[in-house]
Amino acid sequence: MRLILATKNSHKVAEIKAILSNSDWEIIPMTELNNNIEIIEDGVTFEENARKKAEIVCERTGYICMGEDTGLEVDALNGQPGIFSARFAGENVTYEQNMQKLLKLLQDVKKPNRFARFRCVCAIAFPKSLNRVTETFDGICEGQIIEEPRGKVGFGYDPVFVPDEYEQTFAELPAQVKNKISHRARALEKVRKYLEQIRFNE
Ligand code: IMP
Repeated sequence: MRLILATKNSHKVAEIKAILSNSDWEIIPMTELNNNIEIIEDGVTFEENARKKAEIVCERTGYICMGEDTGLEVDALNGQPGIFSARFAGENVTYEQNMQKLLKLLQDVKKPNRFARFRCVCAIAFPKSLNRVTETFDGICEGQIIEEPRGKVGFGYDPVFVPDEYEQTFAELPAQVKNKISHRARALEKVRKYLEQIRFNE
């Protein structure tokens, strides 16, 4: 069975494929289907955005689709950037610009008050013929924001995020470690179990 990923972010595609590599589903990014679907992320929660991505791509392609929405919630910033994580420093900005804005806002906040978490919601949407409602699954990874970026792997805010029980940032840890403990890994583990069960029943 095919699962279409409703994302154009190649970093996310690589992580999702690696994490779901032990499933029987064929994982196909929407960019491989030769279509040009634009999705406006205007939901007010991660769940709304994840559902919207999954449902639009499902309707347009006719395949079972997974949408995913993720963000960083920083306690000292009352949960910001949250759903605005991709455009924290403005529209069409780089990961570096978003990180620099975050570090600037936190410059007077000292350890141990730099708690933060990544939150990820995955939504699975089904073509009408399968008569199933959209299902959502979440995953959280708690940690701290450090003062200077460190590391080269990963993407987004990875160079400033140190997950609990580790000393390296997500951008210093090997991908295999991030893909075991991350917000995305935790949400996708629930997705994997769910997909195994529906594959079994259908
Ligand atoms: P979205 O889910 O595509 O809206 O992504 C939100 C933003 O969160 C991205 O642009 C990244 O900056 C950030 N982000 C999402 N996932 C991760 C991750 O695993 N590590 C670091 N940053 C992430």
